[in-house]
Amino acid sequence: MARYTGPVCRMCRADGKKLMLKGTRCMSDKCPMNKKRGAPGKDPKVRAGKRSEYGLQLIEKQKIRRMYGMLEKQFRLTFDRALRMPGVTGENFIQLLERRLDNVVYRMHYAVSRNQARQLVLHGHVLVNGKSVNIPSYEVKVGDVIEIKEKSKKLPVVQDALGEVSKSGTMPWVAVDVDAVKGTFAALPRREEVTDLLDVKEQLVVEFYSK
Ligand code: SF4
Repeated sequence: MARYTGPVCRMCRADGKKLMLKGTRCMSDKCPMNKKRGAPGKDPKVRAGKRSEYGLQLIEKQKIRRMYGMLEKQFRLTFDRALRMPGVTGENFIQLLERRLDNVVYRMHYAVSRNQARQLVLHGHVLVNGKSVNIPSYEVKVGDVIEIKEKSKKLPVVQDALGEVSKSGTMPWVAVDVDAVKGTFAALPRREEVTDLLDVKEQLVVEFYSK
């Protein structure tokens, strides 16, 4: 199960968007995106040229892939599944990404980033409907109950992350009992509900892969 382990803040600067890959640091003044630096390796005084259609599609694809912490092959396979499903491909794609277990653990605020959520899953701290699941890409279904194992509920990373629920609440498609560290994936997210992706144009990803 390969994953990217290089510097991540560079990816936000390259994509020009906060990808929220470093948990609480992303919300703090330490986030390099607050310092208005340009893309890595580019002189900020030099104006960027107009991007080609292909360039715009590529950037949008990279942005979403990096946000969900996926490698290209896995990302492409997920897109191909979305393409075969009835309905709007872009929306299907976002829903499939949102149904990944590591993402659901992040959305339920058991971790401050998807990367940390992935570690919790891989290290066997997560139960799905009472059974241990250690596959980050496991596809969560509507009605599934996702919880942290009893012996892991007091882990500082979990408790710190849960503190965010009182500050920012949860996404509307998940319901979380903070005291029990247990939540339900209550519904498939509607596109407009995925507020941190509102500025992302998934249609460009559809165009990118449709070539
Ligand atoms: Fe991106 Fe977070 Fe790094 Fe800011 S702190 S550049 S949002 S990964």
